[in-house]
Amino acid sequence: MFKPDKELIKEFAKLAIVNGVNVQSGQPLVINAPVEAYELVRECVKVAYQQGCEKVTVNYNDDVKTRLDYENMSENELANVPNWQIERKKYEIEKATCYLHIIGEDPDLLAGIDPVKIKASSLARMKAMQPYQYYTMNNIGQWSIIAYPNLAWAKKVFPNKSDDDALQALWDAILYTSRVELDKTLDNWDKHNKEIHDHSKIMNDYNFKSLHFKNSIGTDLTVGLIKDHIWEGGYDISKGEFPCRFNPNIPTEELFTMPDRYHIDGKVVSTKPLSYNGVIISQFSLTFKDGQIVDYDALDNKEVLKNLIEMDKGTKSLGEVALISYDSPISNSGILFYDTLFDENASCHLAIGACYPTNVKGGTDLTADELYELGGNDSMEHVDFMFGSNDMSIVGLTYDDKEVEVFKNGNFII
Ligand code: ZN
Ligand code: ZN
Repeated sequence: MFKPDKELIKEFAKLAIVNGVNVQSGQPLVINAPVEAYELVRECVKVAYQQGCEKVTVNYNDDVKTRLDYENMSENELANVPNWQIERKKYEIEKATCYLHIIGEDPDLLAGIDPVKIKASSLARMKAMQPYQYYTMNNIGQWSIIAYPNLAWAKKVFPNKSDDDALQALWDAILYTSRVELDKTLDNWDKHNKEIHDHSKIMNDYNFKSLHFKNSIGTDLTVGLIKDHIWEGGYDISKGEFPCRFNPNIPTEELFTMPDRYHIDGKVVSTKPLSYNGVIISQFSLTFKDGQIVDYDALDNKEVLKNLIEMDKGTKSLGEVALISYDSPISNSGILFYDTLFDENASCHLAIGACYPTNVKGGTDLTADELYELGGNDSMEHVDFMFGSNDMSIVGLTYDDKEVEVFKNGNFII
């Protein structure tokens, strides 16, 4: 089975540990990874200790085992989150741990499994972990997500290629979009981070009151932006015991900020399928009034979309609006990855669910209630879906009622 050059794997590990989580001397690191990724994980562990990491803990997961659990375990047992898992999370946060999530899942992993079982299990896990969500959402400790291909995923993305060729093609796409190049990767990221930050400064200076999205397939949506919002993108700075720069998403192309959950009106039509809890929801639309979803439709798996929208008080509104030019490297690759980490960086997107407190001035000093009152959405969920298109126009409205063209024909023009 195809595997990339060992040197490229080392380069990828360096990117994940140095630029991604940027583990600090004396800090513990937790790596979550699929079993297939063990070679990359070993390199990550090596680099982490070279950086002075106090202790690396690795949690392996396995798609095959996960599917067997869903097929054989009862709904009750799937929804049981044992106390030791919560205690472990508490312990990790007390120790100011940073997290590297290596993802690589079969997009159809849970196809055919009873949605009720899936919902029960994910709801229970989210409820149990919600008290600790602030740690990541407020960037208290560093966290980063990178991807590792597996065969089922590669065949989903490249169904007409042989096993070997499909794997190679997915590897090439992941390394290319993650800007991995022998001995050049860290420089590539310094340059990329700077470009994104310069662009977010332009958007922050405009300080728009709202954005109006329109295209030919039916999107006609006004998204109010929270007062004193901050456009973010590229690297972030952690705020806990080990303050430092880190890159949460590898790859990343987006500028994103916080919608005002009281002021979202109109209709949005998705432009890419959404893989949610191992099930693919395609061609769906959402209609908003005064910030709430009041109607929705989907070509298939509408039941799964319904479960998402009805999950909790915040899953009827939005927590993120993100802008990406249609002519971006991921979008130009023409590949549908069936994975949010990549697909969200190919297209303008919105997120159903929680906002990032870092997207508003002073947001990390507010309580959850204060932020919610202000217009920041609160939920256990945060699910990105894509609605960018090559004919998207975006017009920003300023506080003195001036209209500014932000996007024309799918691309940034400011
Ligand atoms: Zn985003
Ligand atoms: Zn998001």
